[in-house]
Amino acid sequence: MKIVGVYGASGCGRGVMPLARHQISDAYLVFIDDGDHPSMVNGHPCHSWDEFLATPAESKQVAIAISDSRIRKRLSEKCAVNGVGFVEIRAGNVVEMDDVVLGPGAILSPFVTLTSNIRIGSHFHANLYSYVEHDCLIGDYVTFAPGARCNGNVLIKDHAYIGAGATIRQGKPGSPLRIGKGAIVGMGAVVTKDVPDGVTVVGIPARPLTK
Ligand code: UDP
Repeated sequence: MKIVGVYGASGCGRGVMPLARHQISDAYLVFIDDGDHPSMVNGHPCHSWDEFLATPAESKQVAIAISDSRIRKRLSEKCAVNGVGFVEIRAGNVVEMDDVVLGPGAILSPFVTLTSNIRIGSHFHANLYSYVEHDCLIGDYVTFAPGARCNGNVLIKDHAYIGAGATIRQGKPGSPLRIGKGAIVGMGAVVTKDVPDGVTVVGIPARPLTK
Protein backbone atom coordinates (compact mmCIF):
# COMPACT_ATOMS: atom_id res chain seq x y z
CA MET A 1 0.00 0.00 0.00
CA LYS A 2 1.17 3.53 -0.81
CA ILE A 3 0.30 6.33 1.60
CA VAL A 4 0.06 10.03 0.89
CA GLY A 5 -0.23 12.35 3.89
CA VAL A 6 -1.62 15.86 3.71
CA TYR A 7 0.41 17.49 6.48
CA GLY A 8 -1.88 19.90 8.34
CA ALA A 9 -5.56 19.29 9.00
CA SER A 10 -6.53 22.92 9.50
CA GLY A 11 -7.82 25.40 6.89
CA CYS A 12 -5.07 24.91 4.35
CA GLY A 13 -4.93 21.13 4.62
CA ARG A 14 -8.69 20.67 4.41
CA GLY A 15 -8.63 22.69 1.19
CA VAL A 16 -5.84 20.56 -0.24
CA MET A 17 -7.23 17.10 0.60
CA PRO A 18 -10.05 17.21 -2.00
CA LEU A 19 -7.47 18.11 -4.67
CA ALA A 20 -5.30 15.20 -3.55
CA ARG A 21 -8.31 12.86 -3.69
CA HIS A 22 -9.09 13.98 -7.22
CA GLN A 23 -5.47 13.62 -8.38
CA ILE A 24 -4.30 10.47 -6.61
CA SER A 25 -6.06 7.14 -7.11
CA ASP A 26 -3.36 4.65 -6.14
CA ALA A 27 -2.63 5.67 -2.55
CA TYR A 28 -4.32 5.73 0.81
CA LEU A 29 -4.88 9.38 1.78
CA VAL A 30 -4.52 10.53 5.37
CA PHE A 31 -4.07 13.79 7.22
CA ILE A 32 -1.03 14.28 9.44
CA ASP A 33 -1.34 16.78 12.26
CA ASP A 34 0.73 17.18 15.42
CA GLY A 35 -1.79 19.33 17.24
CA ASP A 36 -5.05 18.32 18.88
CA HIS A 37 -7.13 16.68 16.20
CA PRO A 38 -10.02 14.26 15.86
CA SER A 39 -9.18 10.77 14.61
CA MET A 40 -11.10 11.41 11.37
CA VAL A 41 -11.24 14.68 9.42
CA ASN A 42 -13.61 15.01 6.46
CA GLY A 43 -13.66 11.24 6.00
CA HIS A 44 -9.89 10.70 6.22
CA PRO A 45 -7.90 9.32 9.17
CA CYS A 46 -5.85 11.99 10.90
CA HIS A 47 -2.54 10.74 12.27
CA SER A 48 0.23 12.31 14.27
CA TRP A 49 3.62 12.28 12.56
CA ASP A 50 4.75 9.36 14.74
CA GLU A 51 1.66 7.33 13.77
CA PHE A 52 2.24 8.15 10.11
CA LEU A 53 5.86 7.02 10.33
CA ALA A 54 4.88 3.83 12.14
CA THR A 55 2.26 2.83 9.54
CA PRO A 56 3.68 0.11 7.28
CA ALA A 57 3.59 1.11 3.62
CA GLU A 58 5.31 0.41 0.33
CA SER A 59 5.94 4.16 -0.07
CA LYS A 60 5.13 7.33 1.83
CA GLN A 61 4.83 10.84 0.49
CA VAL A 62 3.47 14.07 1.90
CA ALA A 63 2.08 17.39 0.74
CA ILE A 64 2.83 20.03 3.37
CA ALA A 65 -0.39 22.01 3.49
CA ILE A 66 0.48 24.63 6.11
CA SER A 67 0.68 28.26 5.09
CA ASP A 68 3.43 29.29 7.52
CA SER A 69 6.57 28.96 5.42
CA ARG A 70 8.90 28.45 8.40
CA ILE A 71 6.82 25.46 9.53
CA ARG A 72 6.83 24.13 5.95
CA LYS A 73 10.62 24.32 5.92
CA ARG A 74 10.98 22.59 9.28
CA LEU A 75 8.55 19.81 8.35
CA SER A 76 10.10 19.32 4.91
CA GLU A 77 13.49 18.81 6.55
CA LYS A 78 11.97 16.31 8.98
CA CYS A 79 10.37 14.41 6.08
CA ALA A 80 13.64 14.33 4.15
CA VAL A 81 15.56 12.98 7.17
CA ASN A 82 12.97 10.19 7.50
CA GLY A 83 13.01 9.26 3.82
CA VAL A 84 9.50 10.59 3.19
CA GLY A 85 9.13 12.17 -0.25
CA PHE A 86 6.97 15.00 -1.50
CA VAL A 87 4.01 14.98 -3.80
CA GLU A 88 2.93 17.97 -5.85
CA ILE A 89 -0.76 18.73 -5.59
CA ARG A 90 -2.33 20.67 -8.42
CA ALA A 91 -5.97 21.39 -9.15
CA GLY A 92 -7.28 20.03 -12.43
CA ASN A 93 -7.86 23.49 -13.90
CA VAL A 94 -4.40 24.95 -13.21
CA VAL A 95 -2.99 26.57 -16.34
CA GLU A 96 0.74 26.18 -16.93
CA MET A 97 2.26 27.56 -20.13
CA ASP A 98 5.79 27.04 -21.55
CA ASP A 99 9.07 26.41 -19.75
CA VAL A 100 7.91 26.45 -16.15
CA VAL A 101 10.19 24.74 -13.66
CA LEU A 102 8.59 24.09 -10.29
CA GLY A 103 10.43 22.67 -7.28
CA PRO A 104 9.19 19.75 -5.19
CA GLY A 105 6.15 19.88 -2.92
CA ALA A 106 4.23 22.67 -4.64
CA ILE A 107 0.52 23.10 -3.99
CA LEU A 108 -1.40 24.80 -6.78
CA SER A 109 -5.04 25.55 -5.94
CA PRO A 110 -7.95 25.87 -8.37
CA PHE A 111 -7.75 28.64 -11.00
CA VAL A 112 -4.02 29.22 -10.58
CA THR A 113 -2.12 30.29 -13.71
CA LEU A 114 1.62 30.06 -14.28
CA THR A 115 2.48 31.58 -17.65
CA SER A 116 5.79 31.10 -19.48
CA ASN A 117 9.50 30.99 -18.60
CA ILE A 118 9.15 30.83 -14.85
CA ARG A 119 11.37 29.27 -12.18
CA ILE A 120 9.91 28.47 -8.77
CA GLY A 121 11.66 26.83 -5.81
CA SER A 122 10.47 24.17 -3.39
CA HIS A 123 7.21 24.00 -1.43
CA PHE A 124 5.53 26.88 -3.24
CA HIS A 125 1.91 27.54 -2.28
CA ALA A 126 -0.30 29.26 -4.85
CA ASN A 127 -3.77 29.72 -3.46
CA LEU A 128 -7.05 30.11 -5.34
CA TYR A 129 -7.02 32.45 -8.34
CA SER A 130 -3.42 33.57 -7.90
CA TYR A 131 -1.08 33.90 -10.86
CA VAL A 132 2.58 34.19 -11.79
CA GLU A 133 3.32 35.94 -15.09
CA HIS A 134 6.24 35.48 -17.49
CA ASP A 135 9.95 35.56 -16.60
CA CYS A 136 9.52 35.45 -12.83
CA LEU A 137 12.05 33.86 -10.52
CA ILE A 138 10.60 32.69 -7.21
CA GLY A 139 12.56 31.19 -4.32
CA ASP A 140 11.77 28.43 -1.82
CA TYR A 141 8.82 28.35 0.60
CA VAL A 142 7.03 31.28 -1.01
CA THR A 143 3.30 31.66 -0.34
CA PHE A 144 0.68 33.33 -2.51
CA ALA A 145 -2.63 33.95 -0.72
CA PRO A 146 -5.87 33.80 -2.77
CA GLY A 147 -5.95 36.19 -5.69
CA ALA A 148 -2.29 37.28 -5.42
CA ARG A 149 -1.14 38.69 -8.77
CA CYS A 150 2.50 38.62 -9.73
CA ASN A 151 3.22 40.28 -13.06
CA GLY A 152 6.18 39.59 -15.32
CA ASN A 153 9.89 40.02 -14.56
CA VAL A 154 9.57 39.83 -10.79
CA LEU A 155 12.09 38.22 -8.44
CA ILE A 156 10.68 36.87 -5.17
CA LYS A 157 13.08 35.57 -2.54
CA ASP A 158 12.61 32.67 -0.10
CA HIS A 159 9.80 32.77 2.48
CA ALA A 160 8.08 35.84 1.05
CA TYR A 161 4.32 36.00 1.61
CA ILE A 162 2.05 37.74 -0.90
CA GLY A 163 -1.30 38.59 0.69
CA ALA A 164 -4.78 38.07 -0.69
CA GLY A 165 -5.56 40.19 -3.72
CA ALA A 166 -2.18 41.94 -3.72
CA THR A 167 -0.69 42.98 -7.05
CA ILE A 168 3.00 43.16 -7.89
CA ARG A 169 3.85 45.48 -10.74
CA GLN A 170 5.78 44.18 -13.72
CA GLY A 171 9.56 44.54 -13.58
CA LYS A 172 11.89 45.05 -16.54
CA PRO A 173 13.84 42.42 -18.44
CA GLY A 174 17.29 42.32 -16.81
CA SER A 175 16.06 44.54 -13.96
CA PRO A 176 13.29 42.67 -12.17
CA LEU A 177 11.18 44.13 -9.42
CA ARG A 178 12.44 42.41 -6.24
CA ILE A 179 10.50 41.14 -3.25
CA GLY A 180 12.98 40.41 -0.47
CA LYS A 181 13.53 37.32 1.62
CA GLY A 182 10.76 36.90 4.19
CA ALA A 183 9.01 40.07 3.02
CA ILE A 184 5.25 40.33 3.50
CA VAL A 185 2.97 42.06 1.03
CA GLY A 186 -0.29 42.98 2.77
CA MET A 187 -3.73 42.08 1.53
CA GLY A 188 -4.77 44.21 -1.45
CA ALA A 189 -1.47 46.08 -1.65
CA VAL A 190 -0.15 47.30 -4.99
CA VAL A 191 3.62 46.92 -5.07
CA THR A 192 5.28 49.39 -7.44
CA LYS A 193 8.89 49.15 -6.26
CA ASP A 194 11.34 46.76 -4.59
CA VAL A 195 10.56 45.46 -1.12
CA PRO A 196 13.64 44.85 1.08
CA ASP A 197 14.24 41.59 2.97
CA GLY A 198 11.96 41.10 5.98
CA VAL A 199 9.88 44.22 5.36
CA THR A 200 6.07 44.29 5.42
CA VAL A 201 4.41 46.61 2.93
CA VAL A 202 0.75 47.64 2.78
CA GLY A 203 -1.51 49.93 0.81
CA ILE A 204 -1.71 51.48 -2.63
CA PRO A 205 0.98 52.15 -3.58
CA ALA A 206 2.54 49.76 -1.09
CA ARG A 207 4.68 51.35 1.61
CA PRO A 208 6.53 49.85 4.59
CA LEU A 209 4.30 49.27 7.58
CA THR A 210 5.27 51.55 10.44
CA LYS A 211 4.07 51.05 13.99
N1 UDP B 1 0.96 21.70 12.58
C1 UDP B 1 1.52 20.44 12.68
N2 UDP B 1 2.84 20.34 12.97
C2 UDP B 1 3.63 21.42 13.23
C3 UDP B 1 3.06 22.71 13.12
C4 UDP B 1 1.72 22.82 12.80
O1 UDP B 1 0.83 19.44 12.49
O2 UDP B 1 4.83 21.25 13.52
C5 UDP B 1 -0.46 21.81 12.28
C6 UDP B 1 -1.26 22.48 13.39
O3 UDP B 1 -1.59 21.55 14.41
C7 UDP B 1 -2.48 23.01 12.64
C8 UDP B 1 -1.93 23.27 11.22
O4 UDP B 1 -0.64 22.65 11.16
O5 UDP B 1 -3.53 22.06 12.58
C9 UDP B 1 -1.78 24.73 10.89
O6 UDP B 1 -3.03 25.31 10.93
P1 UDP B 1 -3.29 26.86 10.86
O7 UDP B 1 -4.76 27.05 11.01
O8 UDP B 1 -2.37 27.58 11.79
O9 UDP B 1 -2.82 27.31 9.43
P2 UDP B 1 -3.26 26.92 7.93
O10 UDP B 1 -4.09 25.69 7.90
O11 UDP B 1 -3.99 28.11 7.43
O12 UDP B 1 -1.96 26.77 7.27
